[in-house]
Amino acid sequence: MLPKLEFLKKKIDFLATRPAWAGQVKFHSFENDEVIVLVRNRFVRDWIKENFLPELEAELATIPGSPIGIAFKVEESHPVSKSIPNGTAQSALDLKFEEKPQVTPQVSQRPLPPSEVQRGLFHENLKQKHSFDNFVVGAGNQFCHAAAQAVAKMPGKSYNPLFIYGGVGLGKTHLLNAIGLEILKRNPRARIIMVTGEKFMNELVHCIRFEKMADFRKKYRDSCDVLLVDDVQFIGGKERTQEEFFHTFNHLHDLQCQIVLTADKPPREIAGLEERLRSRFEWGLIADIQAHDLETRMAILKKKADDDHIPLQDDVTYFLAQSIKSNVRELEGSLIRVHALASLAGKEISVDYTRDVLKDVLGSVDRVLTVEQIQKGVAEYYKIKLGDLTGKRRIKSLALPRQIAMYLCRKHIKSSFPEIGEKFGGKDHTTVLHACNKIQNALQDDNRLKEQVTSLESSLVH
Ligand code: ADP
Ligand code: MG
Repeated sequence: MLPKLEFLKKKIDFLATRPAWAGQVKFHSFENDEVIVLVRNRFVRDWIKENFLPELEAELATIPGSPIGIAFKVEESHPVSKSIPNGTAQSALDLKFEEKPQVTPQVSQRPLPPSEVQRGLFHENLKQKHSFDNFVVGAGNQFCHAAAQAVAKMPGKSYNPLFIYGGVGLGKTHLLNAIGLEILKRNPRARIIMVTGEKFMNELVHCIRFEKMADFRKKYRDSCDVLLVDDVQFIGGKERTQEEFFHTFNHLHDLQCQIVLTADKPPREIAGLEERLRSRFEWGLIADIQAHDLETRMAILKKKADDDHIPLQDDVTYFLAQSIKSNVRELEGSLIRVHALASLAGKEISVDYTRDVLKDVLGSVDRVLTVEQIQKGVAEYYKIKLGDLTGKRRIKSLALPRQIAMYLCRKHIKSSFPEIGEKFGGKDHTTVLHACNKIQNALQDDNRLKEQVTSLESSLVH
C-alpha cells in the first residue's frame, strides 16, 4: 500500500507544477481507492473539474492496480462568503442599481450613483485597449483569466478580494483593467476606481497635508463600488497608508464591493506588509500569472501586430517570441521598435533585419546562460539533487530531467555533444546526442513535456 501512496503523492505533486493550475492542487490523502486532492476554494475545484478532470483521470489510470477515483477537498478557512447566504444575496452593485426595496441600512445610506459627468472621473484610468477581448489566454494565465472573468461577471459575489500576482510584464495590469471594463459594460453606473498602490499613497499624503481626509474617505469608501489596486506591494512598509488602506478595505468588503489587487509577489512575500492586511488579501482568491509559453507569446505578438496594422511574417513572429521569453512588455516594445525602424528605412521586417535591430537586447539573453545554471534550474524544477543529474543512476525519474538538461544545454549554449557529455559526469557524446534527439522528437507531440520545457526555459532566462 505504501509505495502506491507515495507514488500517488508524487504524481499529484508533479501535476501541481503544471503551469495551467500551478500550485492550486495538493495531495491530501488516499482513502477507499480514492485520491483526495486539496484545493484552496470552490472556485479552484470547479475550475479544475470543468477543465481538467478527464486529464487528471487519465493520469491516474496509468497507475497500475485497482482503479483510482478522484475527489476534492476544499481548504477555505477564511470568511469569503460570510455575508452571502445560499448565494442569494445581492452584491452592493445590484442593490444600488436594481433599486431593490429591501436594501440593507448600510447600503441605502450610500450616496446615489453620480451623474454622467462625475462618472467620467471614476473611469479615467481605465484603458479601452486592455480588455478581455484583447487578452490572449495560454497555459500560464488561464487560471488568472478565469478568476478575473468570474469576478467581473459577479462583482462582490464570487471572490473578494481577488489577488493577482506574477512577474513583470505578464499582463496583471491588463487583466485588472479588463475587469473594470467588463463590470462597466455590464453596469454602466458602476463607480470603479483603478489606482496604483503608489498613487493611493500620494493621494493620501496630499489629503493629509491639505487637511482633506474627509474627501479622501468619501472617494474611497462612500463613492466606490469596485476598487482595483495595481501594484499593491508598494504600500508594504508604509504605515499610515496601510492603516488607511485597511479601513478602506474593511469598509468596502463589508458592503460587498469588489476589490481586486495585483502585486509582483504573493501576500506573504510582500516585505513590510502588516499581518492584518496579509490575512485579508488571502481571504478571497489568489491567482498567479506565470510566464507565457512560446505559442502564447506568438499569439500575443500576432494580435498586437494585427491591432496596430504591423505586417508580421510567421518566421519573424517565431523569432521574436523565441528570443524574448519572459516579458510581454519587452516583446511588444521590440516589435514596435523593429516596425518603427523598418518603416523609416523603407525596409521589410525580416528575421535578419529584426536580429540586426535587436542585437543588443537579444545578445544579453544568450550570454547569461551557463551549463551550471541550466543544471541547477533543471534539478530545482524536478526536485532532484544536482549530483543525480550528473551521476550515473539510470532510474527513469532521473533520466528524463538529465535528458532535458542536456537538450537545453545544446539548444541555448550551443556546446558540442562531447563538451556537454563532459559536464554531465563524463558521458559519451552519443548519449548526449540520443538525449537531445529524444527530447526534440518528444516535444513535437507531448504537450506536457512541452509545457515543462517552456516553463523551465523562461525561468532560466530570468
Ligand atoms: P504587468 O502589469 O504584469 O507588468 P502588463 O499588464 O502591463 O503587465 O502587460 C504588459 C504588456 O503586455 C501590455 O501591453 C499588455 O497588454 C501585454 N500583455 C501581457 N499579457 C498579455 C496577454 N495575455 N494578451 C495580450 N496582451 C498581453
Ligand atoms: Mg503592471
